[in-house]
Amino acid sequence: MIVRAFLLALLLMGVQGALNSQPSLFGKKVSSLGAGIVKFYPDAAVMETLKVALAMAFVFAVYGIWIASASRVWRVASRESKNVRLPRSVYILPTTVAVTSYLLIAFAGAVEYPALYESAVPAFFPAIVFKISFFTSPGGLVSLGLILLLIPLFPGVPFFRVLSSRSWKKIHLDWWQASRCLGVAVVLAWIFVPRPPGESISANPLGHRPDLTRPNIIWIAVDSLRLDRVDRMGFLPAIQAFRDNLDTVSFRRHHVGVPRTFPSWIEMIQGRYAAETNVRHMFPGFPARDREFDGIVSLAQKSGYRTVAVSDFAGDIFPRFSAGFDVVKAPGLALGTLIRQNIDQMFPLFTPVVTSPGMRRFFTSLKASPAFAAPRHLEDLVGEALDETSIEAQKPSPATASQPVFLALFYSTAHFPYSAPWPYYRAYSSQGYPGPFWFQKNPSLSADDQNLDQAQIDQVRALYDGALKSIDDSFASLVATLRARGIWDNSIVVLTADHGEDLFESGILQGHGDHLRGDQTLRVPLMIKMPAGTSRFPAREFQGISRSIDLAPTMASLAGLKDFPAARHELQGMDLSSGSTRISDLAAYSETEIWFSRTGSVFYQKNRLDYPGISQLLTFDPGHSGEIILNPKYEKMLVVSKHRSLIHGNWKLIYMPTRQGVRYELYDVINDPANEHNLAASNRDVLSAMKSRFLAGVKKIEPHARMMDDFIVPEGF
Ligand SMILES: [Zn+2]
Repeated sequence: MIVRAFLLALLLMGVQGALNSQPSLFGKKVSSLGAGIVKFYPDAAVMETLKVALAMAFVFAVYGIWIASASRVWRVASRESKNVRLPRSVYILPTTVAVTSYLLIAFAGAVEYPALYESAVPAFFPAIVFKISFFTSPGGLVSLGLILLLIPLFPGVPFFRVLSSRSWKKIHLDWWQASRCLGVAVVLAWIFVPRPPGESISANPLGHRPDLTRPNIIWIAVDSLRLDRVDRMGFLPAIQAFRDNLDTVSFRRHHVGVPRTFPSWIEMIQGRYAAETNVRHMFPGFPARDREFDGIVSLAQKSGYRTVAVSDFAGDIFPRFSAGFDVVKAPGLALGTLIRQNIDQMFPLFTPVVTSPGMRRFFTSLKASPAFAAPRHLEDLVGEALDETSIEAQKPSPATASQPVFLALFYSTAHFPYSAPWPYYRAYSSQGYPGPFWFQKNPSLSADDQNLDQAQIDQVRALYDGALKSIDDSFASLVATLRARGIWDNSIVVLTADHGEDLFESGILQGHGDHLRGDQTLRVPLMIKMPAGTSRFPAREFQGISRSIDLAPTMASLAGLKDFPAARHELQGMDLSSGSTRISDLAAYSETEIWFSRTGSVFYQKNRLDYPGISQLLTFDPGHSGEIILNPKYEKMLVVSKHRSLIHGNWKLIYMPTRQGVRYELYDVINDPANEHNLAASNRDVLSAMKSRFLAGVKKIEPHARMMDDFIVPEGF
C-alpha cells in the first residue's frame, strides 16, 4: 500500500513537473517550446517518471532487505538477552545505519556531478558542496556509505555491545541473514561504485592484422578549445606530448569558418564553407539536412572504412545529419530528450541512483545533459565502438576482412557551461570563491555579464580550464588504450577544435560565434600525427594560414582516399600536405552565427541588424521527433545579419552590416591578436585590397547573393 501510494505520488509529481517545466537551452528556458510538451510529449514525461520510480523502488527494496536482515542478525546475535527494549532498538540502529549510508552515497553523487543538482536544491546547498569538494572525494563518501552497511557483520563494534551485556565472543551470528547483508552491500556497490573507463575492452585484432595496409583514422575534436591553452606550458600535458611527438605536425595559424558547433563540423566534414554547405547555424530544419553530406566520412565509408562517431551533449549534431557514419554513439537534440532530462534531475535525493554507474544505462537522456558530460564516459563508448568494429572485422567476409576504422571522437565538456565532474570543477577555483557560478556558467542572455567582477571572471576561466583538464586526462588514457590495443601506431590521429571561446577578453563577454574579433574563437589547434615514419610534411610546424575546410581533403590525401573533390577556388578546402605553393598563401573566411539575445552594450550588439532573441527564433519540428529548429521565417534575415571576416597574410578584414550601413574593420593580426586597434582609417590601400579579395571570395562561395548598397543579401530576401 505504502509503495503504491509512493509510486503514484511520484508519478503525479513527475507529470506535474514536466508540464510546468519549460525546456531550457544554454540554461535559458525557452518559452516558445513549453507548449509543445503537453501537445507532443505527455508519454515521455509519464514513462520517464515511471522509470525513475522503478529505479528508486529497486534501491529501496535493496535497503529494505538490508534493514530486515541486519535487524535479524542483531536480534539472533543477542538472543539470550533479557532486555525487553531490545526489539525496538534492533530496528532503530540498522535503519539509522541504512539512512546514513544512503545520505553519504547521495551526497557523493552531488559532489561528483553537482551541476545536475543545482536547479532542484535550495541555494545554500551548492555552496556547501563546493566547499566540501576541496576536502573529500565522491569515491571516499561512497566507500564510507558501503562500509557502514557491513557493521552488522562485525558484532564486536562498540554500539553493538550496548545491546548485549555479554562478551561478544558468546554471540551467535545468523549466517544466512549475515550473508544477505553482505549480498546487499555487493548489489549497492555494483550500483554505485565507479568503474574504470573502458573496462569492457577486449583484445582487438585491428592493429595486428598483417593484411592491414590502410591506416586507421582517429579524429579527435575538443569543443571550444582555444589555441592559447594548448600553448600554456605544462597545462595540458597529454595534448602537448601529442603535439611534440616526432610524427606530429602542428598548424600554428589554423582557423574555423563558423565558430559554432554544427556549421563548423559540417565545414570540416565537407571541406566547404557554410555558405556552400547551406548549414549556417545550429538549428537547421529538415530541408537543409535531408541529403547525404558526401564529405570525408562518406568517402572513408565508401573506401571500406568502418565509420564511427562518438560524443556527448555537443555531439547532438551527429544524429541530425547523414554524413556516412556506420555507428553514431551520441545523443540527439529532441524535445523529448529535454523533458526526460528534466525529470531525471527533478528529485535530487534520487538523482544519485539515476546517475549511478549501475543505473545510468537505463537513463540515456542524461547523456545529452551538459551537467553529466564527463569525458571518461566517452572512453567507454569508444571501447564499445572499437569492440563492435573488431567483431565486424573478425567476420570471414572479404568486405570486412581488413576493415580499418574511421573514428570521430568529439569531447563536449569544455563547451559552456563548462560543468566538468569532480575534481575538475574546483581544480583551478579559489576555495574562498563566493558564488554563484560554483560548477557551471552559461553566457547571460540578459547582458548581466557586463557587470561581472574579476573574482567571477576568474571563476569562469577556472571552470573552463578545469573542463579542459578533464579532457586532457581522458585523452591521456585514450592514447594508452589505443596503444595497448595496437591501434595507435598505424593510425593517422588528428586533434583539433570546432571553435575557440571568449572568456571576457577585451570587453567581449563569454561564448563563441557572436563576433569575429580576436584570436579567441577563430583560431584553434590542429595537429596531425602520421603512422610512424610516414609523414610527408616538410616540417613539424606549419606556419602559414590553414582553415578547418582544409582538414577533409588533407585527411583524404594522407589516408590515400581517392576522389575528394578538388578546390575550384581559393575558399574551398585544399590538401595541406600537397606542398603546392597555393598552400603557403591561403586566406581564411569566417562568419558569425545566431545572436541568442538582442540586449547589451557589447560592440556586436551595437553594430548589428536587429532580429528577435532565442525565445522567438526557435521552434520545434513535430514531423521529426520534436527536433528544435530555427523558425524558417528568420533564415534569410540571419544570413543578411552575419558579420563576416577574411584573414590573409598579416591582415584581418571584418564586415559588419549595421542599421547605419556596412562597417568595415581592419586589424593587424600578428601585432594585435586581440584585434583592439582598428586600422581601417589609416591603411586605406590595405583596406581596399582586402575588401576586393573578400567580396570576390563571397561571390565564389555564395554565387546567388547580390549586393544591395554595401550589404551582402541572399537570393530571395
Ligand atoms: Zn562547439
